[in-house]
Amino acid sequence: MSNAKRTIFDLHAHPALKTWLYEYKLEDDHRSSPLFDPFQMQTDLPKLEKGGVGGAVVAHYLPECGITRYAKLLKWLKPTAQMVAPELVTRIEDDSIPNKPFYQTLEMLDRFEAKIAQAQRAGKKTAVAYSFSELQKHLAEGTTCFVHSIEGAHSLGRRHEKTQTYLDHLEHFFRRGVCLMTLAHFFENDLASPVDSIPHLLRELLNWKQDLDPNKRLTNIGVAVVEAMLDIGMIVDLSHCTEPERAQVYELNNRRAKKRPLVFTHVGAYSLCQKEMNPKPEEIIQIRDCGGVIGVIFVNDWLAKTTDLIEVFKDQGVKNIVNTIKHIGTAAQTFDCVAIGTDYDGMTDPPNDLPDASSLQKIVAALEKSGMKAEDIEKVFYQNVLRVLEQGWSNN
Ligand SMILES: [Zn+2]
Repeated sequence: MSNAKRTIFDLHAHPALKTWLYEYKLEDDHRSSPLFDPFQMQTDLPKLEKGGVGGAVVAHYLPECGITRYAKLLKWLKPTAQMVAPELVTRIEDDSIPNKPFYQTLEMLDRFEAKIAQAQRAGKKTAVAYSFSELQKHLAEGTTCFVHSIEGAHSLGRRHEKTQTYLDHLEHFFRRGVCLMTLAHFFENDLASPVDSIPHLLRELLNWKQDLDPNKRLTNIGVAVVEAMLDIGMIVDLSHCTEPERAQVYELNNRRAKKRPLVFTHVGAYSLCQKEMNPKPEEIIQIRDCGGVIGVIFVNDWLAKTTDLIEVFKDQGVKNIVNTIKHIGTAAQTFDCVAIGTDYDGMTDPPNDLPDASSLQKIVAALEKSGMKAEDIEKVFYQNVLRVLEQGWSNN
């Protein structure tokens, strides 16, 4: 086991997608690749240890049913997959019954925890934390610690007759240890509609056809669920939401006597990369003022303009991530609202120089070299996420 000092806590990573789809073991050192490779594993325990990563907010993403409807390639592949890997097809959202996606997501949480238990039996110091105090205890003991989050409110189910059912399911996830929920993802759900979130190359590769309206607002159900999240202390993640939806959440939060920290778990900055998913300068201020945080994603598509073909080909991430971290820090006049949210294992194309979690200290070193203060580096990689979890998770 590597003894690298644990200086990093990732705000958004997807090891649970790989344990859900492929049954990978967390204790094994899997193949990783700097290319788009859906079968690689970037956040297994050996890589997290090697990279000095103390833990992560684990995004549980139940692959949305729209994937096999809008991505033509996957639509064509589905019948073949049904024959050669029938089990894999059952891991995609089944929206034929309103409650089914909710139960599938619970199963996903169970499976991830079973993989954690398996890694513990194999001698790994690892755990899932169900409260902030548990998280603190595990981290102090040097245990690689995960907390559950959910990406996409389709996990609450669809087409429920009563709004209360969405709220009941939310409460159930909260009691189950879920600290955060990303409202939107790739497809419209009953709360929110997303912005375009598919990287250009993947869109071409999958022959993805989807019309999205970037002016959509939260539904009434969406507003009710956000209010409930702010009440009970489940952190609201604005990644993938439209700008008007984000504005609604700021307003709902600002109206409260005590604001909650809001987050973008995995984005870039709009001023550097004009994608609808990235927060604008005034939004960076909104996040700062509520004590929230913006996790910088490790995917060049959201970090920089990609008009230079040589840059695209080289696909180097360190420079773009350093630029984005510094830009957000400058825009906010503090590094209190910046973190990293790698999106590793989220079926992304990682930068060539940062293929997996074992390479994360490269970014720390680059920021040190750039003259950033040690205390600011500590905030960006660790303390800010811990502060947001302390203040945003639970109803204190
Ligand atoms: Zn995402």
